[in-house]
Amino acid sequence: MALAQAAAEQARAAGEVPVGAVLVRGDEVIATGFNHPIGAHDPSAHAEMVALRAAAQAVENYRLPGCELYVTLEPCLMCAGAIMHARIARVVFGARDPKTGACGSVVDAFANPQLNHHTSVTGGVLETECGAALKSFFAERRRASREARAAARADAGESDTPGSAEPL
Ligand SMILES: [Zn+2]
Repeated sequence: MALAQAAAEQARAAGEVPVGAVLVRGDEVIATGFNHPIGAHDPSAHAEMVALRAAAQAVENYRLPGCELYVTLEPCLMCAGAIMHARIARVVFGARDPKTGACGSVVDAFANPQLNHHTSVTGGVLETECGAALKSFFAERRRASREARAAARADAGESDTPGSAEPL
């Protein structure tokens, strides 16, 4: 999970929501991925998808049986689907996602035996730390947008001739 957290910091450095993923088989790290849908112009560029794609390329197999995926945030439905298609043995995630989480928070895709025969899920690993990285990112983004609005107001104020809006 520490490696997934490091990948999440790469996303933060790129200005993307900091989520990171690592795909391992036994002790071997096969691939890592970080969230970057904005930079990639790709709604599917979630950390899990990036790690799954890289791992499948690395082992030249679209199925990754016996592999475990560590990700700092609960996977969404898209990623849950890809995880099932790849036959991932186990998913370990950090923070829960009350908005799009598909491992129990909003829906539980892996609990449906008709969909899932392969993947066990462990959630809440380093939950506080993984969640803190996301909270600090959004807090920073809100602070930056407040400052930008304040700067825009100040600029607008300075460009007006003082008193020009006052009726004579
Ligand atoms: Zn996802």
